[in-house]
Amino acid sequence: MSADNCIFCKILADEIPSAVVYEDDLFRAILDVNPAARGHVIILPKKHAANLFELPDEETSKILIVARKIAGALMETYHCDGVNILQNNGEASGQTVFHLHVHVIPRFEGDTDHINIGWKPGETPENLQAIAEEIKANL
Ligand code: 5GP
Ligand code: ZN
Repeated sequence: MSADNCIFCKILADEIPSAVVYEDDLFRAILDVNPAARGHVIILPKKHAANLFELPDEETSKILIVARKIAGALMETYHCDGVNILQNNGEASGQTVFHLHVHVIPRFEGDTDHINIGWKPGETPENLQAIAEEIKANL
């Protein structure tokens, strides 16, 4: 259910305070303590899962519906121009808290001076068919 020394489990157990924006039987959504923008929300499954690979199917299938609901509320509240919904798995991807969470971040035209979510092409677009076969072999 919960993991020792997991900050999000402590938040979910009300041992550490947080600003709650949404709660149901499976999830609690809170404000990120170091927000990228006003209204930056993180959605936490109530049962500890380190990452997407550990998340049960029920939570996996429902978390994006919660994210969409919150994203809609952020659009309405802050009249933002867009919303990022993102989720990191593993240190290399930028994950710093190893209790799965989905970020919902309001975005505004011109906010790229302090929010950088994107990439430059890191591979040549050659052999795409062969690459597709590589991946399909492990599905
Ligand atoms: P990650 O980089 O793992 O995808 O994101 C972790 C997020 O959790 C960060 O944006 C960070 O600001 C947020 N965070 C870390 N500790 C706390 C905390 O104690 N309370 C809240 N509300 N957010 C936290
Ligand atoms: Zn946890």
